[in-house]
Amino acid sequence: MELNGRQTRIIAIVRQSAPITGEQIAEKLNLTRATLRPDLAILTMAGFLEARPRVGYFYTGQTLSSLFSEQIQKMKVRDYLSFPAVVKDSSSAYDAVCDMFREDVGSLFVVNGKGLLSGVLSRKDLLRTAIGSQDMNQVPVSVIMSRMPNITYCRNDDSVIAVAELIIDKQVDAVPVVRDKDDGLEVIGRMTKTNITSAFVKLAKGTVR
Ligand code: ADP
Repeated sequence: MELNGRQTRIIAIVRQSAPITGEQIAEKLNLTRATLRPDLAILTMAGFLEARPRVGYFYTGQTLSSLFSEQIQKMKVRDYLSFPAVVKDSSSAYDAVCDMFREDVGSLFVVNGKGLLSGVLSRKDLLRTAIGSQDMNQVPVSVIMSRMPNITYCRNDDSVIAVAELIIDKQVDAVPVVRDKDDGLEVIGRMTKTNITSAFVKLAKGTVR
């Protein structure tokens, strides 16, 4: 069974405030009792809620965690990714710093002459170069980036939670979203700690599609 965002919110409200009447739930959601009636009927029939006459709704407590993990697994990268900030591997470290400010990102994805993923450049990679003796205008990005095949990436149909695990395991801030090309990987987006955080805020608000 799949619950919609409103039904998930109703469960959360009942869980927090049981026993609670249909009228009170409607008030919290700024909806009319009549609008909520079908949702309450579904949730009661499915066993998520128990309705006691003249008392109100109770949460049965059986299935929310399985429901929750089902909801989380359904959240896919394609619905939460951002536009990628990309730099050519021949660009200078100085230009990369400018791009990072202009694009307001913490990591740049580096592409080769064919536009395919060749590396990742983070803030610290640039800071390390800045405190070294090299001239930032002379050092190409390709020399200071982390490079393929050691790049952690994901795809559109990966789950958001799988990417969150990758970010934790690999201790990175951002992961490029890629799609296969004949001779490499095309960068089509980015997933960062911010994307993951906003996905979980949506989940908590019950606005996950
Ligand atoms: P910061 O440098 O701001 O701490 P990160 O933690 O993302 O940012 O980067 C740490 C190191 O990991 C850097 O050297 C960077 O090049 C590398 N890195 C960042 N993202 C990835 C990735 N997706 N795959 C492989 N290496 C990465």
